[in-house]
Amino acid sequence: MTTPTPATTAAQAIPADEGAERSAALQELANRLSAIDDPWEKLRVAASATAPGRISLGTSGQLTGTAIIEGAHQHNIPLRVFTIDTLRLFPETVEYFDTLESHYGISIERVHPDDQELDRMIRQHGVFLFFDSKAKQEYCCEIRKVRPNFRALRDVDVWVTGLRRDQSAFRADTPAVQVTQIPNLDSSSDEKHTLIKLAPLIDWDEARVRAFLKEARAPLHPLLEESEGEWFFESLGCVICTTRQARWEPPRAGRWRWFNESDAEKKECGIHLPPPSHIND
Ligand code: SF4
Repeated sequence: MTTPTPATTAAQAIPADEGAERSAALQELANRLSAIDDPWEKLRVAASATAPGRISLGTSGQLTGTAIIEGAHQHNIPLRVFTIDTLRLFPETVEYFDTLESHYGISIERVHPDDQELDRMIRQHGVFLFFDSKAKQEYCCEIRKVRPNFRALRDVDVWVTGLRRDQSAFRADTPAVQVTQIPNLDSSSDEKHTLIKLAPLIDWDEARVRAFLKEARAPLHPLLEESEGEWFFESLGCVICTTRQARWEPPRAGRWRWFNESDAEKKECGIHLPPPSHIND
């Protein structure tokens, strides 16, 4: 995963300007990717079809994101990597990105919430608004994660994610490849940015991801390697909103634990929800 060297002619096939031509080129690439089974071949073809820097992995430091970094490294696939630093991350998460950078010799872009948006939210609702209601949790995630994620993707053609279908019932039908649209937050109009969302390891389960990483001797997030008896971290987000969970609990039970009764079926921050009916300006 060194200096990006995708094929120049193929890269020119995806126009940067939004419009019918770009949409058609992305759909054609999505069709090609959908016909490929091997995840690394999928990633290689996607990288070859895009200009340098326009295929980007968003990772929060969890197992599948690291497996994709490892796979790209093994297959010499050029991949930009970014993470959303919500300013509420575990210290172990912040340090883990330093570890990944030195292990793989890569640079990981840290994307932060917008200062003004964050100030306004805290003045209106307080720092711990996520305890008040599901709507306020989604609003906090929107300001700290979803909008920064949109900004990170504004010049990207292929957004690579570590989504897996086994992560929750809500994610069970997630496609491996889809053409999607996100808001263009730089635009005063309703203009959307069209891009491909690619989840190359969508069908891997956690055991397979762990086995792959173990064989590669990849560094794991330290919190994903520890447990306290039957209690362990399964899915990592912000401090307070993430707790250990028991082995008998469903996936993501440790996230926003106070919603386990009322909203257990939708444990999402919004990054992987259809954009963006809940975006508040
Ligand atoms: S996980 Fe919690 S603190 Fe982090 S953005 Fe979402 S609601 Fe806010």
